[in-house]
Amino acid sequence: MNGRPGIVTHSPNQSGKIVAFAMPFEDVLTALSTDAVRGLRKGQVVELLARHGPNQLMETPPTPLWRKLAAQFKDLVIWILIVAAIISGALGEWPDTIAIIAIVLLNGLLGFFQEERAEHALGALQKLSAPLAKVMRDGVLRSIAASELVPGDLVELEAGDSIPADARLIRDFGLRVQESALTGESVAVEKDSKQVLTAGTPLADRLNMVFMGTIAAAGKASAVVTGTGMNTELGQIAGLLQRYKPEPTPLQRRLEELGKILIVVCLVIAGFIFILELLRGGSILQVLLMAVSLAVAAVPEGLPAVVTLSLALGLQRMVKRNALIRKLPSVETLGAVTVICSDKTGTLTRNEMTVREIIAGGEHFQVTGAGYAPRGQFSKVRSATSLPVGTAASAAVDPGQTADLLHALTIGTRCNSARLTPEGNGSENWRVIGDPTEGALVVAALKAGIEANNHEHRAVYEIPFDSERKAMSVVMHDSRGRLMMYTKGAPEVILAKCTGEFRADRIEPLTEARRKEIVQTISEMSSRALRVLALAYRELPADAATAYEERELVFAGLVGMIDPPREEAKEAVQKCHAAGIRPVMITGDHPATALAIARELQIAAEGDRVVTGQDLDAMTDDQLAAQVEGISVYARVSAEHKLRVVRAWKSRNQVVAMTGDGVNDAPAVKAADIGIAMGVSGTDVTKEASAMVLMDDNFASIVNAIEEGRGIYDNIQKFLHYLLAGNIGLILFVLITYVLGWPFPLTTTQILWINLVTNGLPALALSMEPPERDIMRRRPRSPREPVITLRHGLHMCGQGMLVTLVTMVGYALVYQGEEANLPRARTMAFCVVSYSFVLFSLSCRSQRYTMPELGLFSNPHLFGAIMLSSLLQLSVVTLPFARPFFESAQHFMWEWVLLIVLALTPVSVIELWKLWKRKRVPQPL
Ligand code: ATP
Repeated sequence: MNGRPGIVTHSPNQSGKIVAFAMPFEDVLTALSTDAVRGLRKGQVVELLARHGPNQLMETPPTPLWRKLAAQFKDLVIWILIVAAIISGALGEWPDTIAIIAIVLLNGLLGFFQEERAEHALGALQKLSAPLAKVMRDGVLRSIAASELVPGDLVELEAGDSIPADARLIRDFGLRVQESALTGESVAVEKDSKQVLTAGTPLADRLNMVFMGTIAAAGKASAVVTGTGMNTELGQIAGLLQRYKPEPTPLQRRLEELGKILIVVCLVIAGFIFILELLRGGSILQVLLMAVSLAVAAVPEGLPAVVTLSLALGLQRMVKRNALIRKLPSVETLGAVTVICSDKTGTLTRNEMTVREIIAGGEHFQVTGAGYAPRGQFSKVRSATSLPVGTAASAAVDPGQTADLLHALTIGTRCNSARLTPEGNGSENWRVIGDPTEGALVVAALKAGIEANNHEHRAVYEIPFDSERKAMSVVMHDSRGRLMMYTKGAPEVILAKCTGEFRADRIEPLTEARRKEIVQTISEMSSRALRVLALAYRELPADAATAYEERELVFAGLVGMIDPPREEAKEAVQKCHAAGIRPVMITGDHPATALAIARELQIAAEGDRVVTGQDLDAMTDDQLAAQVEGISVYARVSAEHKLRVVRAWKSRNQVVAMTGDGVNDAPAVKAADIGIAMGVSGTDVTKEASAMVLMDDNFASIVNAIEEGRGIYDNIQKFLHYLLAGNIGLILFVLITYVLGWPFPLTTTQILWINLVTNGLPALALSMEPPERDIMRRRPRSPREPVITLRHGLHMCGQGMLVTLVTMVGYALVYQGEEANLPRARTMAFCVVSYSFVLFSLSCRSQRYTMPELGLFSNPHLFGAIMLSSLLQLSVVTLPFARPFFESAQHFMWEWVLLIVLALTPVSVIELWKLWKRKRVPQPL
């Protein structure tokens, strides 16, 4: 229940309480003690939040820790080990049983902690993408976390917003809401704040209400929150919210399959040895134990936990670089991206608009001033016809005395939703709340002394800006009480709706010749990278109906604003070129503006053409697919064109990243391999459809995320290489000694120790390896490439065999066929395998670069892991209480020397081999 007297948002109950949709909105505001203009006061909010709690659906209780711990012991391998422990017990080998159980527990705990850490990291990231709401409190519009909303809050809604709570509409301009999540109805519902419904109206027909979890598809509205959290329609039906559970990535799935294949292969080998040994007349239990050891030797038990952890840590690093991953599998896809299709405004440019030029009444004006500070001078360019304007001489003008200029600026500031506020104490810094394009118009008008939107100039109606229509209109009364429509938008769109021109304080017909002149001016301004908007108006009859249309407008002028490219974007584009990634600009802006900026950023080269939305309409999908690789700039496109471009690139087998912000961008973002939403300017719908959110809307952050994605994939390959090569070495050693008929060299406990403890730590540390320095100078990885390619597999086998070889040498040199030497020979084999594996991790840091090239200490974690593993190994062969568990015998002095030499051999050979290969095929550093 809602807690506040008289207000319920769900169906009325028997007690006859009033329902918000059955009351005029004024009564709802009164019942909720909310000021219709200023919203709630701070004190009220604190009290209401304490009473109603946060605006959140309740989550299912978390899985208890003991369950998570227990889940670590459900793998087949663990059960094989437990069988091994029982067999050891049955054979009277109690130290073995204890050691196996201890190692199994240790492994379970290690896996548990790694998964907990990964889960926390992912959970924290999830919180970062929590939705926001625009709310009016104490007369100030601000953006707050949707969870902080309380009943009575005044919220502003616009196209693309996900509705943050149940609310009664107060004012709406063409609001349409997609309510399928609640009602199943797929067509967006047209809302109407003015209606007062009967108390029995079903949910789907409550046209004056909006509900949590639905989406504003078009239009704009203000509404007062009537229900929050579990006390919303969604809260009533949705029950408990499922906790975030990361889905496994394709790589994780492939690794799981690989693990299964390895188990089968081992079981076959183990079965083979088992039968052979039986034929030879060995004891069943002894042979069974050995077969189990072999199977355990081959399966990289620690792998899944290391993969999860390295993905989670990678995601944390990406957040630090402003890229928030929403879908775990995207991390892998990121490393394979070959094309980035990016918006221009705000992503490649700074989205800090400043009006530089105004054309009004056929005259050219220039405006000075920097940033959003409302200070600057106006001057008139002497020769109205001499182009380009930027180069002509100019004379200062007083905008107050220049009627046409004043008129154009007034339209710009009335047809406007942005606000300008000072930031900090000084008056130097100003901030725009709302669309920067509109903010620039507010600033230009203030420079001429025209006050921004205030309460006397309240819109009677508004047709909000929409990037499909590329225009915006408001209807309001002017200072003389006339009902006016003020319109602004893309110049060609506005010009097509104009029949007259405001010139020298009166309206003249807009002739064809004059139209041509204006079009030429637009092209010229755009080619200088200016973003050009046209301004127009129309006087409406006082009794005009509510169906206001943008037609028969009077052209009032053009504004040209600069929006400089981001410095980081230039560098990022260079990085893309070096990394074999193709940057493509897709913008709603004018083709000439787009091309000028694309050239500056080197996305387009001299002579490149721009393809417009119109050109795309004239192409079939096949024609587009055939040409797509030759097009770097698309202009004046709409969302559906973006979708076609994504599909065309995908049909060329490219891996496409696509940015989006607007409400209609969601399909293109969803269709891309990596859909990227803008964190600052993006709509909730696009964020919901995306795989990644850019927290700073910056193109450079996409490229950084790709770099991290490549690094994470590389690291997964590195520790996979390490663990598998190690296992190959181990299993070969056991097999060869068996085939040669030597006494069995390693006990189950020793094999487990090597596999889980000494190898586990360096593998974990390899997942923290910094990216190789040429990571962004390589071609993207093919997404079809297997995790282990044939070449890679051969390297793995070769390197594993080196370990086998040195271990065989160590074993043979100590054993020398004498039974008395066997305990020392086994200890020697145990130590050589352990130490050579631990040191081998150093050469797994890169398949190309040698240790000094990578920087000896550039991964301190690995050094720590090597030290710790070495000490652990040393302790189990030297500490008296540990020795019985590992059947360790004491070495002679010369054996220690031999051990050091042998343990260093594989890593040294591999490093020398890298150098030799480099000499044959020089590689860039
Ligand atoms: P991008 O797609 O790269 O973000 P963009 O911001 O130029 O570029 P849109 O927002 O779709 O793309 O704008 C398309 C065109 O609509 C602009 O070139 C401009 O002429 C016009 N326009 C942009 N903002 C407004 C606005 N607030 N009111 C009216 N017209 C606008």
